[in-house]
Amino acid sequence: MQGHGVSKGLCYAKVLVLDEEALIFPSEIGCPEEETEIFWAARADVLKKTIELRDRASNLAEAAAEILDVHCSLLEDKGLLEPIQSTIDGGAGAAAAVEQVMNGLIRQFEGMENTYFSQRALDIKDIKENLIRRILKIEKEDISCLPEPTIIAGKDITPSTTAAMDTEKVVGMLMEMGGASSHTAILAKTLDIPAIVGIKGLLGEIQTGQYIGFDGATGEVFTHLNETEIADLQARISRQQEENDRRNALAGKKAVTRDGVAQELWGNIGSPADADKVLLRGGTGIGLFRSEFLYLASDILPDEEKQYLAYKQVLEFMGEKPVIVRTLDIGGDKEVARLQGSKEENPFLGVRAIRLCRRETAVFHTQLRALLRASVYGNMKIMFPMISSLEELRWAKEQLDICRKQLDERQIPYIEKLPIGIMVEIPAVAVCAEQFAAECDFFSIGTNDLTQYALAADRGNKEITDLCTWFHPGVIRLIQMTITAAHKKGISCGMCGEAAGDPKMLPLLLGLGLDEYSMAASAIPEIKELMGKLEIGACKKLAEQILQLSTAAEVEQKLDGWFSSQITCF
Ligand code: PEP
Ligand code: MG
Repeated sequence: MQGHGVSKGLCYAKVLVLDEEALIFPSEIGCPEEETEIFWAARADVLKKTIELRDRASNLAEAAAEILDVHCSLLEDKGLLEPIQSTIDGGAGAAAAVEQVMNGLIRQFEGMENTYFSQRALDIKDIKENLIRRILKIEKEDISCLPEPTIIAGKDITPSTTAAMDTEKVVGMLMEMGGASSHTAILAKTLDIPAIVGIKGLLGEIQTGQYIGFDGATGEVFTHLNETEIADLQARISRQQEENDRRNALAGKKAVTRDGVAQELWGNIGSPADADKVLLRGGTGIGLFRSEFLYLASDILPDEEKQYLAYKQVLEFMGEKPVIVRTLDIGGDKEVARLQGSKEENPFLGVRAIRLCRRETAVFHTQLRALLRASVYGNMKIMFPMISSLEELRWAKEQLDICRKQLDERQIPYIEKLPIGIMVEIPAVAVCAEQFAAECDFFSIGTNDLTQYALAADRGNKEITDLCTWFHPGVIRLIQMTITAAHKKGISCGMCGEAAGDPKMLPLLLGLGLDEYSMAASAIPEIKELMGKLEIGACKKLAEQILQLSTAAEVEQKLDGWFSSQITCF
């Protein structure tokens, strides 16, 4: 089978297929007495588990315990239990009765104006799923603790499933859906887990327990291998490991071009645990800490203390090295049901990132206070995502002032003059970059979104992967305009989208004068090695020529040809 390789690496292991299909109810049901017994046994079991969870959570986070408290009360609420019982008495099966009554309740809550109440619909959905799973005796796949190295496969593995999985044991990820820049793909790369997306017919070909192999660089999946093929694949895996070890040994060396110009090569992370990989691979800063993954990894919103500890851990670990923490970017394909309202028609164009924070100011303030408190432990910069207007940038800065005052009242110290930057990922901002540069301290270009918004090509859609390309001359112009505007106003311009770690883009970006490159840790060694083979002067000339080209194909062809001629002549 063939898909789109999104995170390099070879692997061979047992597969676990995640079944995210809808729960199917049995067509045959027992008499009302039997179904009544099944329902009350399930309810007792779910209540017991929820109480245990709540008691455990109360030691950790107040917010978590409060939510689980609500779950317990609902499971004891006559207003819920009695209608379920009478639906069973009327001849429905236990699962169907739960579904029917609770769906009615969910609709009622979803329709409420008040956010607190509309969010309760999620609690009811959670309980409904737990009850039905228990009635149907279908355990939820627990991938947070796996017994052996495993390849996870699914139709569409969501970023939240990815964030919750056992990263020590997951050695590969395969998906039927998904485009090259989907967040699941990015997360796999950040975690250094080989991955392929967009594999047609995957789930029809493989099943849990089967051994399979794949190549995350080429997008090939190998099933039903014979002994010789397995031995060949394992030999290739060992060779690759040796090559990685050789490159990792360069970690201590500085990133400099052949003509001696030092470059900033930093890493993107999604959790404090990833920072370690960045240093190990020779990154000298964190150019993007995707803080929303703290929210995706759990059903419960992280409170100020939990976030503060996560940021502090990264800052202390990185010492004097810079750490750019990006504030919440929830929305698009990163769903956090607890924070989002009803489903949107176009989530990537909807209430995402800073737009969500403007509606959920309390959640934003919690994060900003946690960031400010952590700032004294290292070299932190704060970055706002999805900024589309100056009003949004000004609003976000005002919220920081409000949070500073709140900390002053609590007499908690923080660094007063933190550098504040924005992601440049909306084309209109790249076009007006000078105005934005006048009101912030740095830019970081988010090519994943900049590309999808500039070309109207969904970054997660496997059908249009070829259209969603940063080699498009329009995208390259936007990048060039952003860098030029930043330099004119005297601020630095980095890049933390996937293009920064694309070897083919490197000579062009060097030629355009990008100040900082931030990428998945796994990409750092290769980019550093290539940097050492390129000269700024030649790259500048190349950039001038590329800016004259008119199609993505011409740009790619030019880069391919130029690249191989430069590399082979050294
Ligand atoms: C980007 O859009 O390029 C980016 C780095 O942000 P994200 O991928 O998290 O949307
Ligand atoms: Mg983005």
